[in-house]
Amino acid sequence: AVRIHGISKSFGPLKVLDDVELSLPAGSVTAILGPSGSGKSTLLRAINHLERVDDGFISIDGDLVGYSQKGNTLYELKEKDILKRRADIGMVFQNFNLFPHLTVLENLIEAPLQVRGLKRDDAVRLAQELLARVGLSDKINAYPRQLSGGQQQRVAIARALALKPKVLLFDEPTSALDPELVGEVLDVIKELARTGTTLVIVTHEIGFAREVADTVVFIEAGRILEAGPPSRIFTTAEHPRTREFLAKVL
Ligand code: ATP
Ligand code: MG
Repeated sequence: AVRIHGISKSFGPLKVLDDVELSLPAGSVTAILGPSGSGKSTLLRAINHLERVDDGFISIDGDLVGYSQKGNTLYELKEKDILKRRADIGMVFQNFNLFPHLTVLENLIEAPLQVRGLKRDDAVRLAQELLARVGLSDKINAYPRQLSGGQQQRVAIARALALKPKVLLFDEPTSALDPELVGEVLDVIKELARTGTTLVIVTHEIGFAREVADTVVFIEAGRILEAGPPSRIFTTAEHPRTREFLAKVL
């Protein structure tokens, strides 16, 4: 399980995350909803330590991910250990972020070779397996610019999976896609959910969240206002702000 404990983060005077507490049991799917600027991306970036938090800590299966900050007391892991733990957290971005000068295969084997120390043969075999899983075996030697947005995003998902992360974070994975390409990416994510990958998804796809998520979290101004199963949040949300938000997007 992943534990997000008392995370706070400010940019200058602006408090973007305010004492966020969240637990992600192994195999669970968590959808994060909230208005623009509420801190959703910052939360994902903080979980992955792309963003340094001012307070709190993240742990995976009881192991601290990077460091723990409580007031002025800092406990920090060694650089090498931080990198290793960070590799347990995969991330998929809105704009795919593939390496443009590398082929699909090269995109997929880069991190397993560098971070996990796999042998080239094993990394290639893993890449082939993952491409089959996202339905893109025939694109193994293509460059990103030769692929559609939906295909690029499916490669990005395969690339994240290549590190065998314990949790996979998605930041609006379909919002840069043409509408007709959204379904193929959501289908891949649904399949991951079905096979027990621990997922966190920031999304505006309410139907998808309702279908796939175990827990829906509503965040506003850096605070979790409400969390619960979709069956409750989408019908009888307790917080007026959640109801107001949902009334706009549903
Ligand atoms: P959206 O739905 O539009 O993607 P979000 O919920 O993901 O919004 P964040 O990107 O997490 O929101 O941003 C939260 C707040 O933090 C915003 O007010 C944003 O302007 C601010 N912010 C984010 N990154 C930085 C930064 N590096 N420096 C200063 N302010 C930042
Ligand atoms: Mg965002």
